[in-house]
Amino acid sequence: MMSQTNPHESAKELINEAADKVKLEPWIRKSLLNTHRELHVTFPVEMDDGSIKIFNGYRVQHNHMRGPFKGGIRYHWDVSLDEIRALATWMTIKCAVVNIPLGGGKGGVICNPKDMSKKELEMMTRGFVRRIYPIIGPQIDIPAPDVYTNAEVMGWIVDEYAKCIDKRGGKKYLGVVTGKPLDMGGSEGREEATAKGGMFVIKEVIKEKYVVGLDSLKNKKVVVQGFGNAGSIFARLAYEEGAKIIAVSDSKGAVINKNGLDIPKLIEHKERTMSVANCEGCSNTTNEDILCLECDILVPAALENAITMENADMIKAKVVLELANGPVSAKADKVLYKKGITVIPDVLANAGGVTASYFEWDQNLKNEHWTKKEVNKKLEKVMNENSKLVIETAKKHKVSTRIGAYILAIQRISEKAKNELDTNHYICLTDYL
Ligand code: NAD
Repeated sequence: MMSQTNPHESAKELINEAADKVKLEPWIRKSLLNTHRELHVTFPVEMDDGSIKIFNGYRVQHNHMRGPFKGGIRYHWDVSLDEIRALATWMTIKCAVVNIPLGGGKGGVICNPKDMSKKELEMMTRGFVRRIYPIIGPQIDIPAPDVYTNAEVMGWIVDEYAKCIDKRGGKKYLGVVTGKPLDMGGSEGREEATAKGGMFVIKEVIKEKYVVGLDSLKNKKVVVQGFGNAGSIFARLAYEEGAKIIAVSDSKGAVINKNGLDIPKLIEHKERTMSVANCEGCSNTTNEDILCLECDILVPAALENAITMENADMIKAKVVLELANGPVSAKADKVLYKKGITVIPDVLANAGGVTASYFEWDQNLKNEHWTKKEVNKKLEKVMNENSKLVIETAKKHKVSTRIGAYILAIQRISEKAKNELDTNHYICLTDYL
C-alpha cells in the first residue's frame, strides 16, 4: 500500500525500471535512488498576535551531476520529508529530460499560508532563508516558487540571502533564486512558462500523431484539476486554441459545463471569490468526479497522488497531461498504460517552468534581459526537441512515455557523470559542497 502513495517510493520505482532497461551502472543508480544532502530546520517566527511559533522546513538536494541543484520551495500543511525527496528527485530527471545544465533539489515549509498574514509569511520566509543560506547560492542550489509561493516570496529570499552572505548588505545575488519579480531580475514569460511548456508538448504529441483520435485541440474536451499558476494559465491557453474546457477544480470546489466553460470569466470569478465554485453559467461538482469524466485531455495541475489505485480504473481520458508533479502514482500509471491511456509525464509536461527558470538564471549571470518573444521562442525549441526525443525513446524501448522520459534522462545523467568521473571533477565538486 505504501508504495502506491509514498511519492518518493514512486519516484524510485520509476528510476529502477528505466535503469533496468538501459543496464545503468550500479553506482549511478544508487546515487539516483538516494539524495545528496537533506537539511531539516526549525526556526521561530513572531506572529501578528505577539506569540512565537516554531516552523519546520526542509531543503533536499538530490543530485548535481549535471549542474547546480534546482527546485522550488513549497508552503503547505502536508509538506513531508518524503514528499520533498520525491520532488527533488523529479527535478533531477526533469532537468535532464529538457537537457538543461542543472540538477535536482526541492524545499518546503510546513505551514498554512492561507491562514497567515503577509507579514507573517515574510517573517517565516526570512527565518527559513537564515537556516538554509549556507547550502544555497547561484552556483550551488537555486530555489524557485512552487505551490503557495510566488515572485514576492522569491524577492524576500533574494533580500534575506544578501543580508546573510554580506552582513553589511548592498550586494545583490540575483541568481540565488528564479521566479523573481521582473524589477528584481525576473524573466519575461516565467509566470506562464509551465503552462506554455505543457501546451508545446501536447502540440508536439498531436504533430507526431502519437495518440489515436487526437488530431488537434479544436473542440477537444479538456478537464483541469487545480486552478493556480499552472492549471488556470493552461486552461486559458487551451481555451484560446479552441478546446472545450468542460470542468475545472481547486481546493475549495469544482465546476462543470459540458458545453464548455467561459475560462476568462472563471479566472475573473476566482480572483474575486478565491475559488472556482459557484461561478455563474456552470454547475458545482466535486474534484473526485471531474477526474473520472469522459474527455480527451485530463490535466492534473494540483498536487501529488490525484490518480492512485483507488480511481485509476475509472479514468476515461485519452491523454493525461501531468502539469502537477507526481499526480499519478507509479502503480496507477501501469493501470492507465494497460487501459491504453497515454500519460505525458510531469518530468516533460511541466518542464517549461524550470526551463524558463534556467533562462532567468542565465540572464542574471550574463547581466542580460531577454524579451518575452525571445524567451518563448527558446522555450518552444527546447520543449519541441525534447518531446520528440521522449516519444522516440518510448517507441524504441516499447515502454510508456514516462519510462521513455526516464530512460532519456538517466542516459544523459550517466554520460555526464562518467565524463566528470574521468576528470575527477565530480568527486571534487561533491567534496567541496
Ligand atoms: P498554485 O499554488 O498556483 O496552484 C495550486 C492549485 O491547486 C490551486 O488552485 C489550489 O486551489 C489547487 N488545489 C490544491 N489542492 C487541491 C485539490 N485537492 N483538488 C483540486 N485542486 C487543488 O500552484 P502551481 O504553481 O500551479 O503548482 C501546481 C502543481 O504544478 C504542483 O504540483 C507544482 O509542483 C507543479 N508545478 C508548478 C510549476 C510552476 O511553475 N508553477 C512548475 C512545475 C510544476
